[in-house]
Amino acid sequence: MNKSISRRQFLATTAATGAFVSLHPFSAMAATNQAHLRILSTTDLHVHVHPYDYYADKPIDTVGLSRTAAIIEEVRAESTNSILVDNGDFLQGNPMGDYIAYERGMADGDMHPVMQAMNVLGYDCGTLGNHEFNYGVDFMAKVVQGADFPIVSANFVKTLGASAGADDTFLKPYTILEREITDGSGETHMIKIGLIGFLPPQIMNWDKRHLEGKFNARDILQAAKAWVPEMKEAGADIIVALSHSGISSAPETEGMGNAALYLAGVDGIDALVTGHSHLVFPSEAFADIDGIDLTAGTLQGKPATMGGFWGSHMGLIDLMLERDGDEWRVVTSVSSTRPISERVDRKNLPLVADVQKVLDATQAEHDATLEYIRRAVGMTEAPLHSYFALVADDPSVQIVSQAQTWYIEQMMQGSEWEGIPILSAAAPFKAGGRGGAEYYTDVAVGPVAIKNVSDLYLYPNTVRAVLINGAQVKGWLERSASIFNQITAGEQDQVLLNPEMPSYNFDVMDGVTYLIDLTQPPKFNRGGDVINAGANRIVNLQFNGAPIDPDGMFVVATNNYRAGGGGNFPGTDGTTIFEGPDTNRDVIVRYIVEKGTINPQADANWGFAPVADTTVIFETGPAGAGYADSVEGVNIEPAGDGADGFALFRITL
Ligand code: MN
Ligand code: MG
Repeated sequence: MNKSISRRQFLATTAATGAFVSLHPFSAMAATNQAHLRILSTTDLHVHVHPYDYYADKPIDTVGLSRTAAIIEEVRAESTNSILVDNGDFLQGNPMGDYIAYERGMADGDMHPVMQAMNVLGYDCGTLGNHEFNYGVDFMAKVVQGADFPIVSANFVKTLGASAGADDTFLKPYTILEREITDGSGETHMIKIGLIGFLPPQIMNWDKRHLEGKFNARDILQAAKAWVPEMKEAGADIIVALSHSGISSAPETEGMGNAALYLAGVDGIDALVTGHSHLVFPSEAFADIDGIDLTAGTLQGKPATMGGFWGSHMGLIDLMLERDGDEWRVVTSVSSTRPISERVDRKNLPLVADVQKVLDATQAEHDATLEYIRRAVGMTEAPLHSYFALVADDPSVQIVSQAQTWYIEQMMQGSEWEGIPILSAAAPFKAGGRGGAEYYTDVAVGPVAIKNVSDLYLYPNTVRAVLINGAQVKGWLERSASIFNQITAGEQDQVLLNPEMPSYNFDVMDGVTYLIDLTQPPKFNRGGDVINAGANRIVNLQFNGAPIDPDGMFVVATNNYRAGGGGNFPGTDGTTIFEGPDTNRDVIVRYIVEKGTINPQADANWGFAPVADTTVIFETGPAGAGYADSVEGVNIEPAGDGADGFALFRITL
């Protein structure tokens, strides 16, 4: 298929729509021997075709290829020459992806909705991301078969060769598109556009269960240095790298996952579409990094873009090409991104409307996904509620820790940290507060639906593991325990919770046992600064039934917010050993789907240290009354009505 957009077609389109189309300066100024080529891109779509949050079961304006498509069509209409590429992570990452993988399946010849949507838009090329392996290689291969365009990957291999150029790649490492291109005087010429794709070699760890012993991954830079010269020999005029790999200033190391900055330095690569880290390039997120020019939008002088995630942005690279004999080369460039929504007054407002044909192409799967998220995918043997999450070990936090521990155990297998005890830190997110008296998780014994999982895990955090010692475990818990007011022994009905402290900074740690001595002052303030250095609220901290060794090492499963310093917890500075590609929410869904039946019975591994003749009062949702008697390890009784619809409860310490 030899696609091209000639100037005649372009003018005809413009006339037909009657739209006023202003030419990009490159198109307007292109000389006879010059041509303007636009590279339109999406990255990290993660099955977000419709503008819908399936976890919350409601429309949302920040995601959806149906919206990005409006920008794609608009930019195409104003372009003399353009190609559209996707940068990977397309088939997993929301409940529509799970629905296809876990429920409908991919029989031979089945189309995946994200591929149907991409076909409708006429993509020119795509590549694989790390998430393409989450459901196994057979599944990915069937999805890829449905593409009306080439999908390339230079470093996912069936077998490694003696050198990268001898690798037996699973897909074609690259493709060379022969396109007609219209120059500044309206003449058409042939151009050969080479496209090559790369993914993080970390897939071998992240999806070990699908890949180990059967497939392999080559270092990104080794693969580039082997295949790019071959593309040149095959006549590629320009070469675009589809880098499902982020931009990092970390020093170059073999096997690095975020290699785009160094990939840009490979001779022969003219432009880079980047992704994987779900950021926007150019943007201030990349300020002050050597080798990056944010004004020019370049990495080591090569134009690059990163279009956010879930369809949030379209990435755009404008190239001014110049013809020299039969060959084309890049003379100048502009890199940018175009968002589908904007944030105004703390609200997300859409900037574009849906492209109907994209919605239509996937409407059946969208409807089936809605049914899927509303129906049971597993069973729970214990009620999943969060009414007492701040005062006792709690099932809504327990299930998160069970899933996190289950996942990190798999990720540590075969790593240098295998065998180190694994703990899990998790905080209640939906626990009243400013959310109000009904803002609690409350799922009865019985079926659990996907949309319940958003109740358990509100944020799209990703899983992390940190390596810390026993002293840091205690410090972490002291930080959490600062949510409580200091209690005076012998006094009654003292207010337990400090309302300034948000519940999301109350990490409960699973895998150890401990008590909290409320008569001690808090060690930390709201911001995580030490205010009482000598305070020790955490007592009887034990691992395996013995006092914890301050020097003993532990792997702690957590999220990117906490591991990245959110809440300013002790032990989170430079201790990250594992950056998971999966969201905590996806891990919980996978855990529930794989286990079928879960039993998130809290194990009362933490509680308050006894204080004679002392009671405290706290407020929670009135619907918690039905569970008060069943909370283990703490004596809770109703204590009347609170303000704003909350109910008061009393704990005898
Ligand atoms: Mn991604
Ligand atoms: Mg527990």
